[in-house]
Amino acid sequence: MLRVAVVGSGPSGVYTAQSLVEQSAVPGIQVHVLDRLPCPYGLVRYGVAPDHEKIKSLQSNLRTVLEHERIGFVGNVEVGPHGLTPERLLELYHAVVYCVGAARDRRLCVPGEDLPGSFSATDFVSWYSAHPDAAEDGFVLGARSAVVIGVGNVAVDVARILARGPRELYPTDVPQAALGALAASRVREVHMVGRRGPSQAKFTTKELRELGSLPCARVLVDPADLALDPAFAAPEELPAVNRRNVEVVRGWAAAGAGAGREPDGREPDGRTIRVRFFLRPVEVLAEHGRVAGVRFERTVPDGTGGVRGTGTYEDIEAQLVLRAVGYRGVPMAGLPFDPAQGTVPHAAGRVLRDGAPSAGEYVAGWIKRGPTGVIGTNRPCAKETAGSLLADAPALARRVVAADPLATLRAWGHEPVEWKGWLAIEQAEAALGHSLGRGSVKIADWQGLLAAAQRR
Ligand code: NAP
Repeated sequence: MLRVAVVGSGPSGVYTAQSLVEQSAVPGIQVHVLDRLPCPYGLVRYGVAPDHEKIKSLQSNLRTVLEHERIGFVGNVEVGPHGLTPERLLELYHAVVYCVGAARDRRLCVPGEDLPGSFSATDFVSWYSAHPDAAEDGFVLGARSAVVIGVGNVAVDVARILARGPRELYPTDVPQAALGALAASRVREVHMVGRRGPSQAKFTTKELRELGSLPCARVLVDPADLALDPAFAAPEELPAVNRRNVEVVRGWAAAGAGAGREPDGREPDGRTIRVRFFLRPVEVLAEHGRVAGVRFERTVPDGTGGVRGTGTYEDIEAQLVLRAVGYRGVPMAGLPFDPAQGTVPHAAGRVLRDGAPSAGEYVAGWIKRGPTGVIGTNRPCAKETAGSLLADAPALARRVVAADPLATLRAWGHEPVEWKGWLAIEQAEAALGHSLGRGSVKIADWQGLLAAAQRR
């Protein structure tokens, strides 16, 4: 018998659970996938954009894993400062795999970053994804122009959601309040700004291209921004993804004001996405105590892949600033942490304490390797960690643990939401959508989620 807890039910957690039961030679292996929320799927539910139905449909693959007879979902159990400590978890399970992701946004570290009207893109994403901890709901209120800082896939997601018309968002599972606010949005200019060139941007080509096919928006690229990119002279030498990105933005620059328009010439509703490069943010500007714009310094390539400032500046007017400059891992009390990398130190997934493997503790996903890669990147990462854990299984199985972890959790005052509770939430969301004349609509608050889970 080997009882394993996987902390986090996003893709890395679910793939880890799957790898453990698939690779295991231990017939009695039992895996509990714990989550702080009563809902599974992590960033697939609370990060993948609502209009990306195809990626969202990955949930059905994750569901199949969580319904495996040797795997159980245990939601509404927090591991961390307000919940279970890593030490206590090891009293319940022979081994624990932390798949807790990278929960925070990176900071810009420029003046004005925290002004009203300046948000991390992760807060904006949480809001339109109905995360029950999302506090703010006035993102687009009063804004006509938005600046998105960064040119990664999160920047592309939030720029696209800002530029979508209400009719495009209506069929998605966006919560009702966010749908109403986005439908009433007066944002017509979205500036997505990179500090380096298009050949170095982090977005992937499929996501980038999608900006050019939005029915309500056109895309503009300033040819002067592109001319600075040294790779433009010989794009064929670039890795394929960068070369394709370059081709897309080059196409938009060449098309001028026509870029992004539908072939039938439909008017793009006045919405424009301006994709800018070689501008680094130096200050978020204020007027009457709120965001009024962003001051950027023009940069040029420094010859080593980075950029240097030129001492010339450009202000872009905006009433909304979304900082999409990457995620970072958060330290968990009781676990070692490498602040420079934002990850837990490990060797092939085994947590290292003072350089030595810590018995029974493992990591997978972004907290292991940093916030990079697409969902599928988590598969080999999970497999490696599961392999390490299973190699250690004979020693782990000798650890003395509680006979019934769920009963012990309840005795300790936790109120776990199991799979049936989650299915009840799903049903409640379908019923909510039906009552609104929409498809399934997410419940966006803790009280609503927990009440729905009780109706199992
Ligand atoms: P990311 O890919 O690391 O992109 C971060 C962007 O922010 C880069 O353009 C970076 O520029 C810029 N940046 C960082 N620090 C900055 C600063 N101080 N000032 C100005 N710009 C700064 O991060 P992400 O967009 O958050 O994405 C995280 C991961 O999730 C990625 O692996 C991404 O592919 C994945 N994701 C995938 C999808 C999808 O597949 N549809 C959707 C969302 C997210 P530099 O390059 O110059 O550092």
